[in-house]
Amino acid sequence: MRTGFPDFRLGSVLATSFTGTLSERRGNPVERIPTPQRLIDWLAEYGLAVDSCTTAQLELARELRESIHAAATAAAIQDALPAAAVQVINDRSAQGRAAAILTPEGERQWRLGSASRVEDALSVIAADAISIIAGERDGKLALCASPTCRAAFFDTSQSRTRRWCDMNTCGNRQKKARFNANRRKNPGSAG
Ligand SMILES: [Zn+2]
Repeated sequence: MRTGFPDFRLGSVLATSFTGTLSERRGNPVERIPTPQRLIDWLAEYGLAVDSCTTAQLELARELRESIHAAATAAAIQDALPAAAVQVINDRSAQGRAAAILTPEGERQWRLGSASRVEDALSVIAADAISIIAGERDGKLALCASPTCRAAFFDTSQSRTRRWCDMNTCGNRQKKARFNANRRKNPGSAG
C-alpha cells in the first residue's frame, strides 16, 4: 500500500467493483475511496481517468455507490427496488456525458465530456449498474456469503453458484475460519 490507503478490490464488473470500494459493510467497514484522490485513482483503473475531483464530487460518488448497493441488494433477493436509490442511479446516469469509443484494435474505451467531470465517469458506472439490475447481462446478482460482508456481486460463473464477492478476501477468510473450526474440533489432526 504505497499510498497508505486501503487497496482496491478490482473485480471485472464495473458497478459491483464500485460498490466494493466500501467493504465489510456488516462488520468493520473499510472505506477504500477515503479521499478525492483515491476516487481519481480508482476511476483510472477502470479507464475513466479524470484529472481532478472535489469533495462534493466524492460525495456524489459515494451517494451513487450506496444507491447501487441498495438497488443491487434488493434485486439479488428479488425485493422491490428502493425508489430513492433508483432515483439517484437515474440522475447520475442522465447527468453525465460519456461516449463509447471503438479503438482500431477493436476495444471499447470511454471518452468523458471533460477531464474534470467526475459526473461523466459516474454516469458510465450508473449505466453499468442499470444493465445489471435490469437483468440485461449474462449473470446473476447474488449476496456474498460472508456474514460481515453481504456485498451484492454479479455472478458470471457457468453454474451461477459463486458464494463470495471476492475469492481472495471473503472466500479465503471463510475457508480459513472453517479450517480453524475443524482444527478445534479435532486437535492434533491438522498439525
Ligand atoms: Zn464479500
